[in-house]
Amino acid sequence: ADGLKKHFHLGGGFMAETKLVRAVDGVSIEVRRGETFAIVGESGCGKSTLARLLMRLLEPTEGAIEFEGRDIAGIRGRDLRELRRDMQFVFQDPFSSLNPRMSVGKLVGEPIETHRPGLSRAQRRQEVARLLSTVGLRPEHADRYPHEFSGGQRQRIGIARALASNPRLVIGDEPVSALDVSVQAQVVNLLHDLKSELDMTLVIIAHDLAVIRHMSDRVAVMYLGQVVESGPTDEIFANPRHPYTMALLSAIPEAAHGRARTRLALSGETPSPAAPPSGCRFHTRCPFAREDCATRIPELGAATQESRVACHYWQEIAADRPAAGLTPA
Ligand code: SF4
Ligand code: MG
Repeated sequence: ADGLKKHFHLGGGFMAETKLVRAVDGVSIEVRRGETFAIVGESGCGKSTLARLLMRLLEPTEGAIEFEGRDIAGIRGRDLRELRRDMQFVFQDPFSSLNPRMSVGKLVGEPIETHRPGLSRAQRRQEVARLLSTVGLRPEHADRYPHEFSGGQRQRIGIARALASNPRLVIGDEPVSALDVSVQAQVVNLLHDLKSELDMTLVIIAHDLAVIRHMSDRVAVMYLGQVVESGPTDEIFANPRHPYTMALLSAIPEAAHGRARTRLALSGETPSPAAPPSGCRFHTRCPFAREDCATRIPELGAATQESRVACHYWQEIAADRPAAGLTPA
């Protein structure tokens, strides 16, 4: 692992700094207790790797990950088991993440048994029933098997499983991208409601901004293993500063009609994260790139009190937008 560095912070909270194989490189995020934090970027940008590092499902090569004031990067054994209880993952694909040979009752009961071994069998059954109701399923669904359910229902089962340990943090890795568009909103709303009801912190990984627009408080946009812009979701939608964020936003048809929308289409393929471009990693696709962008690495710096951007020229770009033919709607 060469020159890869990751740094997050789930505040209240959770903070991390790690090094890993090229997937994530110098990432710095901070997630505050009780909020919904979104991590957005194209596939291959390192967002899933980042999520797995946060959860300690992957071993960081170097660095620190802090959760509620404690460094969890190197914890083992019992501490790690406790962490697994406090942080849960909702997977992208509800079809492959549930064992087809286990009944729903077993699927949801298993983590209860692991994390709350003191419960009797009857209490566990009751707890399964309660969790199924919480996610909008019925207690009698406990006797059925995953294949008997629709995609949206299976994701509800996955969520019930995640909630079984009373986690304080839930990370959803594209939790709705495998679902029909018609049920995506339902599952997103469910997660959003549960977060408030259960006093959890939610981290949502997504490949487009549309999905997280109405549910996330703050967002970090990633490109090739790095965060290029972060800040309050409303602010980023209203006033994207990094050219990559502008491009992601202009890909949302509905958003293109919103306030202060900027149209920007990108040309070219995303370079391989294994061989990222020099200087600003976005320079090969950036319509605003200047000569020195190929050699000078932009730092993720404060743009406003709440937001950060990694671009040498964000101020000039903001000022030149009309001249550059970008059309705020
Ligand atoms: Fe574009 Fe240069 Fe800004 Fe990178 S630093 S986003 S290449 S203008
Ligand atoms: Mg992924």
